[in-house]
Amino acid sequence: MSAPAQNKTILVIEDEPEIVLGLTDALEFEGFGVVSADSGKGGVSLMRSCRPDAVLLDLMLPDANGFVVCRQIREIDTLVPIIMLTARSAEADKIRGLESGADDYVTKPFSVGELVARIRAMFRRAGRAPGPAEVFEIGETTVNLTMHTVSCGRQVEQLSFYEVGLLRLLYEGGGQPVSRDEILEKVWGLGAGPSNRTVDNFIVKLRRKIEKKPDSPEHILTVYGYGYKLVS
Ligand code: CA
Repeated sequence: MSAPAQNKTILVIEDEPEIVLGLTDALEFEGFGVVSADSGKGGVSLMRSCRPDAVLLDLMLPDANGFVVCRQIREIDTLVPIIMLTARSAEADKIRGLESGADDYVTKPFSVGELVARIRAMFRRAGRAPGPAEVFEIGETTVNLTMHTVSCGRQVEQLSFYEVGLLRLLYEGGGQPVSRDEILEKVWGLGAGPSNRTVDNFIVKLRRKIEKKPDSPEHILTVYGYGYKLVS
C-alpha cells in the first residue's frame, strides 16, 4: 500500500512568488505539506530543520547557484528526491544538474498539474511493499535496495532515490534488455523524448558505483538502440 500524501512534506526553493503560490496550492490540494524558501540559504536551512520528503529546487536563485544548493542538499540527505526547476533547456545544464545530485528536472514553463502528478507517482512507487529481491549480488558487489546501499568489501556507497528505482527495474528484468522508454516511464514517470539523457546519465552513475571498470562494464550493459540490461 502506498503511503498517504498527508505524511509527506515538500520543500520548494524558488524565488518567483507566483510559481511558489501555484505549487503550494496544488501540492496542498493533494494533501502534501509544503515549506518554501525564496533563497538558496533559506532553502538549505529549511532542509536541515524540516527534513522534507522531496525537494523542488529552482536553478536560478537570487543568492546562489542552484547547482551549488543541490550539492549542499545532497550533503545533508543522500536519499531525498530532488527535482530541479530550470528555465534553461540546454542539455548541458540538465546533465550538470543530474551530476550535482538532482534526480530529475522540469523546464519552465511547466504544468503544475503534471509536476504534482509526477511527485504523487514517485511516492506511490516508493511506497510499494518491498519485494523478495531487495538484497542481491552483482559481481562482487552487494546491492541492498532497502538500505539504499551498494557494498564491495568494506566500501559502502549510498544510492539515491532514482538509482534504487533504476537498479530494481533492471534487476527485475532478469538479464533481459529493458528499453529506455520503459525505464523513463517506470522510474521517472515520464514520457520518452529523443533528447532525454536522464537515463544514460544515471547509468553512468550506477556503473561508477558497481563496475570495476566503469568504462568497460561487465554487468550494466548497453543494448544499442534500445536500452540496458543487468547481468549479475
Ligand atoms: Ca528563479
